[in-house]
Amino acid sequence: MCWLKKFGRELVLIGLGGVALSGLFACREPNAIQKETRFIMGTVCTIQIPGPPAVARRAMAGRRAVREAVEKAFARLEECDQKFSVFIPSSPVCRFNQQGIPIDDPEIVALIAQACEVSRLSQGAFDITVYPLVELWGFYSGKPRRPAPEEIAAARGKIGWQHLVITNGQVTKKNAAVQIDLGAIAKGYAVDAAMQVLLQNGIHDALIEAGGDIFALGQRNQKPWKIGIRHPRQPGLLDTLEVSDRAIATSGDYEQFFIADGARYHHIFDPRTGYPATNLMSVTVIGANATLADAWSTALFVLGLEKGMKLVEEGAVRAEVLMLTSQGRALSSPGLKTIPGP
Ligand code: ADP
Ligand code: MG
Repeated sequence: MCWLKKFGRELVLIGLGGVALSGLFACREPNAIQKETRFIMGTVCTIQIPGPPAVARRAMAGRRAVREAVEKAFARLEECDQKFSVFIPSSPVCRFNQQGIPIDDPEIVALIAQACEVSRLSQGAFDITVYPLVELWGFYSGKPRRPAPEEIAAARGKIGWQHLVITNGQVTKKNAAVQIDLGAIAKGYAVDAAMQVLLQNGIHDALIEAGGDIFALGQRNQKPWKIGIRHPRQPGLLDTLEVSDRAIATSGDYEQFFIADGARYHHIFDPRTGYPATNLMSVTVIGANATLADAWSTALFVLGLEKGMKLVEEGAVRAEVLMLTSQGRALSSPGLKTIPGP
């Protein structure tokens, strides 16, 4: 962590999970009146509320209210986990997967509809029915392995977002073998949901992070939030962004991976091949909401540089993006304003 010091105390780092982030808050945010990290949705979640200057802070009667708001926001993250998890047997998603029970929770139905829209726009690069592939490659069990080609072919036969049917407020499946995994969109959704809870409780400045998906609400001490995006391979930053009321999500080949025979295999799959997508090292999406930023970071990661940038240029993505190719070339959309590194 020592090298962080040279970037100063205002910078928040993302891109390699949240553990370093929480450490950063703990040691480098003296003005925070509330900062807390919990393990939810299988990842590190942090909420930070920046504090006013010391004098105002002493006089502030609302500290307890802030603490309660943060508690409610964490409860919302927990609630999202209970709804969307593929691991919790009572979750509607798990019951849909294991027993074929239709999903009728309006919140989940709406999220699945959003996921299917990203599938449509990305021509299937994004597909929440990748569950059989994620399972086959061992990313659920924590024992990843390279499957045989025939196993991959068999898993691909169970994949296809068109097998999902959304009618009358219900999600059902046309093919009983279909199973869904909201891992590429639910964390972003949970971040948006927690952000709404903070707003409803009178908090207008906050940073919420769940496993690399961020919402930077308002400002940090009267200035935009400064977010550093870590380089996936080297110590140091790929870029630094100044944002206010913006979501930032990153997908990369470095969060969950293994190396076999010199090749890197990770947890973001091209549903059309059944293998991990290979065009990019990372994609960061900066947009108005974390749900779509999360989904599109995964979708663009699969699509790769040219097809991905084309969708951004055509306006299908409605966000700014930063891509790092597998050769190490960084490219951003024309509207992305980065600030010089510290
Ligand atoms: P992370 O969860 O590491 O932040 P992502 O948001 O990109 O990264 O989500 C990756 C997860 O999404 C995988 O663990 C898997 O559960 C699921 N997934 C993998 N490939 C796809 C895909 N092509 N479309 C939708 N979901 C995917
Ligand atoms: Mg994602």
